Amino acid sequence: MFPIIDGHTDYVLSLLETGRDFLTESDSGHVDLPRARRGNVAAMLSAVFIRDAYLPGQALARTLRAVDRLLETIAASGGRMQLVTNVAELERCLHDGTFGAILHFEGAEAIDPEFAVLRLGYRLGLRSLGLTWSRPNIYAEGVGPDDRGRGLTQLGRALVRACNELGVLLDVSHLNDAGFWDVIECSTQPVVASHSNCRALCPIPRNLTDEQIRALAAKGGLLGINFHVGFLRAGAERPEDVSLGDVIAHIDHVAELVGVDYVAFGSDFDGATMPRDLPDVAALPRLVEALLRHGYDDAAVSKICYENWLRVFRTVWQA
Ligand SMILES: [Zn+2]
Repeated sequence: MFPIIDGHTDYVLSLLETGRDFLTESDSGHVDLPRARRGNVAAMLSAVFIRDAYLPGQALARTLRAVDRLLETIAASGGRMQLVTNVAELERCLHDGTFGAILHFEGAEAIDPEFAVLRLGYRLGLRSLGLTWSRPNIYAEGVGPDDRGRGLTQLGRALVRACNELGVLLDVSHLNDAGFWDVIECSTQPVVASHSNCRALCPIPRNLTDEQIRALAAKGGLLGINFHVGFLRAGAERPEDVSLGDVIAHIDHVAELVGVDYVAFGSDFDGATMPRDLPDVAALPRLVEALLRHGYDDAAVSKICYENWLRVFRTVWQA
């Protein structure tokens, strides 16, 4: 049994928008607590994502609503879930089967230029931040249609430094290429691409070039492999267009390029279209079995499933 740390999931957004109960198994969405337990998930980066309709004025209010929903869900779980804010809590989840929620902001739109929201967010449990989703803001530009190719703003660089000092992990998935290289240059801590794949295999802007993957590895970070069909195989749109083999091909590419220490999972469950044979979180053991059959030994599979994420958090959180 290999416990899994999943580097990116949108279940909080799904709970807010559908009103479904995370603690009860349902057919809706990709993640709920019973299915996560069957998937042997120990912890998930739990994203707070703000739709365009709430920007700019409602970004903070919407963020607080999402955090409240997550904390209320944890409170109602009777100890089956916990907010993970340090390494000891994460290790507990890895060992005893408690589901760990790690709070991540997917975009810094709610964060004010004085970083009061960053500091208060940290007190609420924020431990990971993407400077932007695929759109521009006062800190950075994303990879979307509005990408003008500019790197981080001065405020963006200051936000990187503030995250380094607080112990908030920086996530470059969704940043444009110029922003990626600015974060690599600015950050004194390991940096991750929590849910992006290899551009060499699937040439789209959300995926990373070999040079970028080498830079993440050189800083001690990692690439979390995204299961979204269109990020695994260019042009794929439907679950039947890809398979577990495509996920493994991206893992192989990173492992061959920089080693198995720098690749992990970042599923994008509840935010993307999943492969036919990986329809939801409960199917994760199939992927683990496929990795073992493919030739990865127990030590390598442990790294991919959770040890690489644990190493990054141990370094960045410093607690
Ligand atoms: Zn995303």
